Amino acid sequence: MKIGCHLSASGGYLAMGQTAVSIGANVFQFFTRNPRGGAAKPLDKGDVAAFLDFAEANGIGPILAHAPYTLNAAGAEPRVREFAEEVMADDLERLEHTPGAMYNFHPGSHVGQGAEEGINLISGMLSRILLRWRDVHGGKLPSTTVLLETMSGKGSEVGRNFAEIRAIIDATESKLGNQTLLGVCLDTCHVWDGGYDIVNDLDGVLAEFDSVVGLGRLKAIHLNDSMNVLGAHKDRHEKIGKGKIGLDALMRVVNHPKLKDLPFYLETPCDLQGYRDEIALIKKMSDSN
Ligand code: FE
Ligand code: FE
Ligand code: ZN
Repeated sequence: MKIGCHLSASGGYLAMGQTAVSIGANVFQFFTRNPRGGAAKPLDKGDVAAFLDFAEANGIGPILAHAPYTLNAAGAEPRVREFAEEVMADDLERLEHTPGAMYNFHPGSHVGQGAEEGINLISGMLSRILLRWRDVHGGKLPSTTVLLETMSGKGSEVGRNFAEIRAIIDATESKLGNQTLLGVCLDTCHVWDGGYDIVNDLDGVLAEFDSVVGLGRLKAIHLNDSMNVLGAHKDRHEKIGKGKIGLDALMRVVNHPKLKDLPFYLETPCDLQGYRDEIALIKKMSDSN
């Protein structure tokens, strides 16, 4: 199975690969820059090359880059939206050096403008970035798949249900000749907090995801427990098996025939020993290992 966790990017790519291996992971997630925003460190080409060799030798990937939390394509102020657009475009350029990576972002918060306007703004940003990319790169699109993360519906978050995710996808891809370009990262804590009962009706939730978004779009799972009850719209992650979702339900996610081949990323803050233990537990309880 493909399982790993969120790792600090402060030591570079090779260090993340080595850390992943040391805790039994074969995938990992990392922030492309400070999660609160700001400039990215210049890319160290030697480190990237060393990582790519190491990743191939150790069967690591796909790696999942996570955009900073401050990126809000649906912000009310133009400079907030411009920042989001610049950061994402720059992140995608940088990720060309690690082909096959995926790029996950929180669609955004509409801050009172309404979900419909939020969807317009987010899809507007995505389509501008991709159209400009195509112009600059001789008709090609990024080699990185951009993923929309399912959100819990805290505050004015857009992407609080599958229909909003679908609406962003449609509004974006309709401006790019209806090519299939975007994917989805399903966060177990977020969908639970968003009101999808993955504990008692995982099959029903997946059937709904399939009919609204399409399971073919699902590229990654954020495997988190939740501190809160179904539909709480809170987004407070809990360690695996310590929350309201619980270990049994999370293992049904890991072992589900429609999900088991996807990469799973743990992202509830944990020290490395904690992640190592969680990964070992999940592997032990998984059908595929
Ligand atoms: Fe996230
Ligand atoms: Fe997440
Ligand atoms: Zn979260």
